[in-house]
Amino acid sequence: MNGGSGIYDVVVVGGGPAGLAAAVAVAETGANAALIARRLPYADNRTTALLGGSVDLLRRLDVWSRCADEAAALRTMRLVDDTGRLIRAPEVRFSSDEIGLDQFGYNIENRALMSALEQRAAEFSNLTRIDDEADTIVPGQADVAAHTRQGKLLHGRLVVGADGRQSLCRAAAGIEVRRRELGQAALTFNVAHSRPHRDISTEFHTPQGPCVFVPLPGDRSSVVWVASPAETERLSALTDPQLSEAAERQSHSILGRIRIEPGRHLFPLAIERPRRFAQHRIALVGEAAHVLPPIGAQGLNMGLRDAGDIADAVKDAIAANEDPGAPLLLDRYNSTRRPDVASRMFAIDLANRSLLSDFLPMQTLRAAGLHLVGSFGPLRRIAMREGLAPSWRAVR
Ligand SMILES: Cc1cc2nc3c(=O)[nH]c(=O)nc-3n(C[C@H](O)[C@H](O)[C@H](O)COP(=O)(O)OP(=O)(O)OC[C@H]3O[C@@H](n4cnc5c(N)ncnc54)[C@H](O)[C@@H]3O)c2cc1C
Repeated sequence: MNGGSGIYDVVVVGGGPAGLAAAVAVAETGANAALIARRLPYADNRTTALLGGSVDLLRRLDVWSRCADEAAALRTMRLVDDTGRLIRAPEVRFSSDEIGLDQFGYNIENRALMSALEQRAAEFSNLTRIDDEADTIVPGQADVAAHTRQGKLLHGRLVVGADGRQSLCRAAAGIEVRRRELGQAALTFNVAHSRPHRDISTEFHTPQGPCVFVPLPGDRSSVVWVASPAETERLSALTDPQLSEAAERQSHSILGRIRIEPGRHLFPLAIERPRRFAQHRIALVGEAAHVLPPIGAQGLNMGLRDAGDIADAVKDAIAANEDPGAPLLLDRYNSTRRPDVASRMFAIDLANRSLLSDFLPMQTLRAAGLHLVGSFGPLRRIAMREGLAPSWRAVR
C-alpha cells in the first residue's frame, strides 16, 4: 500500500475493527480501494466475543489464523439473576454442544484482532492506505470527494463510512440518527483468577445492568460491568486491590481470587440507529451504522456482517462491470442490513429494559421468559441460534 490522491472504486473511512474488516473484505474482491485511517495504537482494553459467522468471515479473509492463538473459546454461556428481587429468574445455561457446535465463538482482545487485520490489509496491492483523517466528504453525481486533513483528495465511486459514532460520512450522506442515552455506563477491565473459567462466560444480571466475565486464554477473563454512571465512576476510582475485591464479590467467587490487570475504561451507553444504512454513494458500517449497549455481544458481530455485506455488493458490481455506488446497490445494502440491525436492537433494548424495570409484572414476565428458555430445549436451541446470527440471513 502507498499513500496517494486519486480515483477509487471504494474509499473506506475509519480504521477501527469494522473499517479494517471492510477494507480487507473489499480489497479481497479485487476492487481498487483506499483506506483513510490513522495508524494509532488501539486506545482501550475492550475485548470482543466473536460469535457465529464472524470467525468464518475472518477465516475467509485470511485474518483469523493471525490471531487465533490469542482467542479463548466460548463453549457455555451462563445467565445468573443477581437482582436480589422478590421474583428472580432461574439460572440459564446455554451449551454450544446442544446445537452441534464445538463453541459459540471466541473472545479476543481488540488489540490482537486489530493487529491481525492491519497485517492482512498491508498485503493488498489494490488497497492504498492513507495515514490521515478525512476532513470533508462531499457526495457528487459520479463519485464522492474525500479531502484529508493533510491535503489529499480522493474520489470514491462508493465511500464506506466506518468512522464511528460521530460519523462524518453519515452527516455527509444526510442520514439522520436517532439516539437514546441509556443512563448506564460500562466499566471494562481484564482480570487474572485462581480458578479456571472452563470456557464459560458468566453474566450476572444486577438491577443496574449486567456484569459479565468472559474467558480469555489461560486463567484470565475480560470484565464488562454495566451500572449507573455514578456507580461505574465509583468502581473505576477504586484501588487495584479494592476493585479486585469488588469483582470477586460480584462474581460470587466462582473464579476464585481475582487480580485486576492494568487498564480500565469507561463507556457511556446509548442506542443509536440511523434512518438508513446507505445513501448518496455512502454506505455505513460498524458504529457509524448502529450503537448498542454491550449486552449479548452483538455490536462488532453486526459490524462484521456490515463489512461482509458491503463487500458482497461491491463484488457483484465489479463482476458485472457496474457502478459500486449506484442507488440500486445501496438500496440492496440498506434492505439487507435493516432487518438484522433492527431485530438485534429490539431484542437487546427489551432485555436491558426488562432488567432495569421496577415494575413487578415486567419482572415476572422476564423471570417467566427466562424460565421457559432455560427449561424448554427447543426454545433454548432457537435462542442460541438466533443469538449467534439471524436465521433468515443468506450465507454466501
Ligand atoms: C464495553 C463494550 C464491550 C463490547 N463488547 C463487544 C463484544 O463482546 N462483541 C461485539 O460484537 N461487540 C462488542 N462491543 C461493540 C464493539 O466494541 C463496537 O461495535 C466496535 O468497537 C465498533 O467498531 P467500529 O470500527 O465501528 O468503531 P470504532 O472502533 O469507534 O472506530 C472508528 C474509527 O474511525 C476513526 N475515525 C473517526 N472519524 C474519522 C475520520 N474523519 N477520518 C478517518 N478516521 C476516522 C476513529 O479514529 C476510529 O479509529 C462492545 C462495546 C463496548 C462499549
